[in-house]
Amino acid sequence: MRVPPTQLYFIASLAPSPPQIAMAARTLPASALRRNILSSSCPLRPFAASSSIVPIASTRTLATPRHAYQPALRIAGQRRTLSSSARTRLASAVESALDPSQLDREADEVDVCIVGGGPAGLAAAIRLKQLANEAGKEDFRVLLLEKAGELGDHIVSGNVMEPSAVDELLPDWRSEDNPSRFEHITPAREDRMRFLTKNRALWIPSPPQMHNAGNYIISLNQFVKWLGERAEEVGVEIYPGFAASEVLYTSDGSVKGVATNDLGISRSGQPKDTFERGMEFHAKVTLLGEGCHGSLTKQVVKKYDLRRDSQHQTYGLGIKEVWEIKPEKFQEGLVIHSMGYPLPSDTYGGGWMYHFGDNLASIGLVVGLDYPNPWLAPYGEFQKMKQHPLYRSVLEGGKCISYGARALNEGGYQSIPKCSFPGGALIGDSAGFLNVPKIKGTHTAMRSGMLAAEATYSAISSAGGGAQAGSIFLYDYEDKLRASSIWSELYQVRNMRPSFHGPLGLYGGIMYSGLEAYLFKGRVPWTLPHSKPDYAATKTADRCKKIEYPKPDGEISFDIMTSVSRTGTNHEEDQPVHLQVKDWDKHALKEWPKYKGVENRFCPAGVYEYVEDDSRELGVRFQINAQNCIHCKTCDIKVPDQDINWVTPQGGEGPKYVLT
Ligand SMILES: Cc1cc2nc3c(=O)[nH]c(=O)nc-3n(C[C@H](O)[C@H](O)[C@H](O)COP(=O)(O)OP(=O)(O)OC[C@H]3O[C@@H](n4cnc5c(N)ncnc54)[C@H](O)[C@@H]3O)c2cc1C
Ligand code: SF4
Repeated sequence: MRVPPTQLYFIASLAPSPPQIAMAARTLPASALRRNILSSSCPLRPFAASSSIVPIASTRTLATPRHAYQPALRIAGQRRTLSSSARTRLASAVESALDPSQLDREADEVDVCIVGGGPAGLAAAIRLKQLANEAGKEDFRVLLLEKAGELGDHIVSGNVMEPSAVDELLPDWRSEDNPSRFEHITPAREDRMRFLTKNRALWIPSPPQMHNAGNYIISLNQFVKWLGERAEEVGVEIYPGFAASEVLYTSDGSVKGVATNDLGISRSGQPKDTFERGMEFHAKVTLLGEGCHGSLTKQVVKKYDLRRDSQHQTYGLGIKEVWEIKPEKFQEGLVIHSMGYPLPSDTYGGGWMYHFGDNLASIGLVVGLDYPNPWLAPYGEFQKMKQHPLYRSVLEGGKCISYGARALNEGGYQSIPKCSFPGGALIGDSAGFLNVPKIKGTHTAMRSGMLAAEATYSAISSAGGGAQAGSIFLYDYEDKLRASSIWSELYQVRNMRPSFHGPLGLYGGIMYSGLEAYLFKGRVPWTLPHSKPDYAATKTADRCKKIEYPKPDGEISFDIMTSVSRTGTNHEEDQPVHLQVKDWDKHALKEWPKYKGVENRFCPAGVYEYVEDDSRELGVRFQINAQNCIHCKTCDIKVPDQDINWVTPQGGEGPKYVLT
């Protein structure tokens, strides 16, 4: 059954009274509401209880213990800071022996299904509909699924954007004559690069990749929301709050589409009275634009062995805050990057501060996830960085209004997998097109989406009406990528990131990267390989120096739960844990003795804890506070024994980022 989103809104307005709907919309993701309506014809209607749209006042508490850095070891009985959602408590579980996965799902047939409403997915969707509309095929269906409650809610980025791709996709995107232009842009005016010691900021030259003249400082979260409106204008069907949780295959092994996950399953796997079966979306082509380390992408990369000719992917974790700063400290368009302090010399990374909008500053730190010391906490490093005079002097007197974190790809050229597979393709950060020395991936993500769209449209058009779900292979997309600016720009900088693995570590990497930037420009005959995968780079705790992080002052630096409270994240507690660890006790027995709680330190949201427990052999119990997860994917990447599998929780949950 096809129900256009506009119609869904209309149907929604016929349901309970307007105040009820308004309240429900605040309490539930809007899309969950739509989803209830979508499933109204479902044979499982008895389970799709109206209680899921009953207005409920939010009772989320954000009690914030102001201890210093949240310790890996939590004392039993300490209060957990984010409580379960009100929905969980009002909905009494339906105990049933029913296996929900055996029930039929509704299926929708579309031409193209896109997973992920980031820059890549939205650019692909817009380009596809532009092509179809130009050819007079308005009924060509492009459907986009986004796990966030609203587009942009899960997006975290710097962001200084190179406009090349959006200039091509929507040439009037910032034109004064365009009433729908994107207004929140701040032209980058000045670049500063600094090497930090504990108290000093030393001038170092800004390499050509970091020159931002002609670029714009934006909030990517705002930009994505705006792109979504442009996509709807050209007829893309956007379904926020729909987490694609399963890849569907045809009998010949090609990708047939995706399925979204069931809602209203209890922690023990039983359907509750809010149960709704997921939906299937069958498509001639499925494009995966899930961003860095996508959960479905992981599966198709493995199934089709897409890394057969490339190296493993490497990652960084970016942690970010947005501050409203004092007007006298605001320098519109200023772009600052820093290296060195607080990170140790065996750890790759760097900080940034961008002045944008009205007295806003985006400040953040990227930490390469191949850091060896398990005592290191990227969150703690970021708090330290903000106390450096370079940053503190700007933040003092200001107010932190937003927090977020997200993994990013650092593997570059060497790590690009095969991007096409039978029935679909990887686009954007799902493939790994971020240019690390530039810390820019928005333009490459969008361009790859546009290239995939062109290849898809022409393949579907040539196959004619006979094309079945999954029957198309996008050979053209691979060719277009190789001929594109994405390939040449990543090739040019391919040796910079791996050069930090040389014997001189950070200093060797800075020197070699300088040579590449000014002299070699990628024209050398060698390609440096990456070192070990990030999880394998972690040393055992007994081989590394313990790091003590200073107590946050509550003014510039904050405890982790205060930061999490600024993400607006929420997950219903009574659902299967989306951070899958087969056996928590076995995990603790394996990891705690070697890494002494590394999971607690690498997670920027305090999801993992080891709680004192005398009844356990180790004296500690491993605990996952999944409701605090902000979907950064770091645990799946960095856990040393690779036994945490991040899967999508119920659609519409997770962070509700603002201005990130
Ligand atoms: C800290 C940081 C700083 C950065 N700074 C810059 C910068 O200054 N300039 C720049 O150009 N780039 C920057 N980047 C990179 C840039 O943000 C990314 O390259 C870009 O966002 C990639 O776009 P994407 O669409 O591929 O993925 P994303 O932007 O990650 O979007 C993916 C979307 O897919 C959704 N999704 C994922 N899985 C599913 C699923 N299974 N079902 C449904 N929806 C799903 C996600 O919720 C998300 O909305 C930065 C990145 C980070 C993390
Ligand atoms: S649990 Fe994993 S994905 Fe969630 S915030 Fe922590 S590290 Fe990130």
